[in-house]
Amino acid sequence: MTFDALAAAESVALTARAHAVAVDTQAAFPSATVDAARQAGLFGLLSKPAVGGHGLPLRHAGAVIERIARECGSSAMVLTMHYAGTAVIEAHGSESVRKDIAAGRHLSTLAFSEAGSRSHFWAPVSTARANGNEVVLDAKKSWITSARAATAYVWSSKPAAGSEASTLWLVPNRTSGLSVQGNFDGIGLRGNDSAPVQASAVRVPVANRLGGDGDGFGIMMGTVLPTFAMLIAGGSLGLAESLVQKTAEHAGGTKYAHLAAQNALADLPTIRAYIARMRIQVDMAKALWQETFTALEQGRADAGLRVLETKAAAAETACQVADIAMRVCGGMAFRKEVGVERLFRDTRAAMVMAPTSDQLFDFVGKAVCGLPLFG
Ligand SMILES: Cc1cc2nc3c(=O)[nH]c(=O)nc-3n(C[C@H](O)[C@H](O)[C@H](O)COP(=O)(O)OP(=O)(O)OC[C@H]3O[C@@H](n4cnc5c(N)ncnc54)[C@H](O)[C@@H]3O)c2cc1C
Repeated sequence: MTFDALAAAESVALTARAHAVAVDTQAAFPSATVDAARQAGLFGLLSKPAVGGHGLPLRHAGAVIERIARECGSSAMVLTMHYAGTAVIEAHGSESVRKDIAAGRHLSTLAFSEAGSRSHFWAPVSTARANGNEVVLDAKKSWITSARAATAYVWSSKPAAGSEASTLWLVPNRTSGLSVQGNFDGIGLRGNDSAPVQASAVRVPVANRLGGDGDGFGIMMGTVLPTFAMLIAGGSLGLAESLVQKTAEHAGGTKYAHLAAQNALADLPTIRAYIARMRIQVDMAKALWQETFTALEQGRADAGLRVLETKAAAAETACQVADIAMRVCGGMAFRKEVGVERLFRDTRAAMVMAPTSDQLFDFVGKAVCGLPLFG
């Protein structure tokens, strides 16, 4: 019987809802939700049946992320990075690690961004030095989601040999020489534990290489980008959906007692028009998101461009919808109880996650104008 990913996400969403406020206020890793996802079989959603996974298409992972993001942005972020790492490991990792992911024993993430090349993740400046059957890694990674909880990082470096842009490695997070630098204390997604990690002479077996030496750029563009962009878009759209719902509830239930008709906020045409704009913007971005899954599934020539458009559209839509929610819910929006201020803060992250919205606007503009994306 096919695994019902949405039913699983629905049950995990209940846990996410119960813990989301504490995760945010305490900047605590969403362990209960991540464990619920593990127990519900969601870690192995993208893993092939041959290693014990569910082998579902990316669209199902998107639906899971969107549903969980409505309750807890941090949890959705942790799962997004798990699936992004899993996509690489499924294509290039060992069978034993793939089995561990499918069985829920391995939480994955990406360690791409660096203090040196910042959001230009495709151009790591960190190094890999061949040393017999091992490779020695040195790096200043600037952001790794689930820095402490991940079982291993999917790690980028310059190649050990040659002049290609990058090589990928599987680096277990307990490896000697790795140090997580401080706690994440961000404005939003406060539970995602996206901390800097320093690597000083970290030794991993050459067998931990994911793909060939120098193949990193191709894997980033062909495997990581579509997975990460479509899932982080799902996270943005889940936050945006929740903002529409919470804003409509607030507008419908908030009355002016001094007016004879005891008008609710929703009785004001201006307020209704703002809520209509929110609904329309979210539905437009969701339609593009769904269409891009179709383009990917059909291997269409425009799929790559659609992926870039979708991440930018979803991230920007979520921010715009959050801005409207803060206006419509008035002074109450500044306080925690309406619930929109946490979502407002959480929406800010996706637009600066690489590739950032501004980079995507540049890439999409170059593609439309027939110019090369890089160089
Ligand atoms: C919550 C969170 C979790 C994250 N988790 C991970 C993770 O798990 N793994 C990981 O590898 N990374 C992660 N990142 C890092 C992320 O992907 C980016 O690398 C990071 O946010 C970039 O920040 P920066 O200050 O280095 O950006 P900078 O590179 O300094 O960019 C600053 C500004 O310049 C703009 N800019 C830069 N280059 C261009 C260009 N060519 N054209 C137009 N504008 C440009 C950017 O859009 C941005 O607005 C995470 C980030 C956040 C916020």
